[in-house]
Amino acid sequence: AKPTVFVITPTYARLVQKAELTRLSQTFLHVPQLHWIVVEDSPHKTPLVTDLLVKSGLTYTHLYMLTAKDRKLQEGDPSWLKPRGVEQRNEGLRWLREDRRAQPGGDNQQGVVYFADDDNTYSLQIFEEMRSTQRVSVWPVGLVGGMKYERPVVEGGKVVRFHTGWRPSRPFPMDMAGFAVSLKLVLANPEACFDGEAPMGFLESSFLQGLVTMDELEPKADNCSKVLVWHTRTEKPKMKREEALQAQGLGSDR
Ligand code: UDP
Ligand code: MN
Repeated sequence: AKPTVFVITPTYARLVQKAELTRLSQTFLHVPQLHWIVVEDSPHKTPLVTDLLVKSGLTYTHLYMLTAKDRKLQEGDPSWLKPRGVEQRNEGLRWLREDRRAQPGGDNQQGVVYFADDDNTYSLQIFEEMRSTQRVSVWPVGLVGGMKYERPVVEGGKVVRFHTGWRPSRPFPMDMAGFAVSLKLVLANPEACFDGEAPMGFLESSFLQGLVTMDELEPKADNCSKVLVWHTRTEKPKMKREEALQAQGLGSDR
C-alpha cells in the first residue's frame, strides 16, 4: 500500500474560511491515501467546519486548539509580528503521535506528514513527490518571502544552500509549505514541535532543527527546479455595503 499522507491544516473563522476549506478539500479529494487533520483555532469544534468535513468525502480528523490570547495577532498588527497556526500544528502533531501509538501492526509508522495552510495553492503532483519521503523532503514554494519563489539549491543531488531573499543563514530558511517529514521521524522525535516564541522567520527551523541536517534533505520536484505549491493569500473581502444594510436591519444573516 502507498504510505498515507497526513496533512495538518490550521484554520480559523473568518468570512473566507468556508471558501478556503472548500477549495482545499476538493483538491485533496484528488489525492489517494490522504488523511486530513484539521485543527480549528477555536475553543470548540464549530458547526461550519464539522459540516464541511462530514460532507467532504475525505478521511479526516477534526481537532481544535485555541491560540492563547497573548500569542494571537490582533486586528491592526502587522502580519509578521507573530507566527500563526503554531499551536494548531502542534496539536495535530500531538494527536498523530498518540493515535499512531494506539494503532496495532507494523504499518502504523508508514506515512508522511505535511503542513498545509488553508489559503495556499497545491498542485496534485506535490503529494506524489512527498509520498516517498524517507526523513525530510524539500521543494520550492512560489510567491513567498517577497520573491517569485524560494527554493533549496541542489548540487550533485544534495541541497547545498537556499535561494531566499532574507537571512539565508537561518538553519532552514524555508516556508512551511516547502517540506514534508516522514511519520517515522516524527514518532522517533516526540519532542519536536513548532516554537511559537522563535524569532520571526525561525518557526520552520525550530521544528526541523532537531530532526535533520541540510545534508540529509531529500530534494523533490525535479531537484527543486519546479514550483508545485504557492503561498497564495486571500484578500480580505470588503463588507462596506453589507455593513450599511446591517445598520438598516437588512443585512444577510450568513
Ligand atoms: N491561522 C489560525 N489562526 C489565526 C491565523 C491563522 O489558525 O489566528 C491559520 C490559517 O488558517 C492558516 C495558517 O494559520 O492555515 C497560517 O496563517 P496565514 O495563512 O494567515 O499566514 P500567512 O499566509 O500570512 O503566512
Ligand atoms: Mn497563508
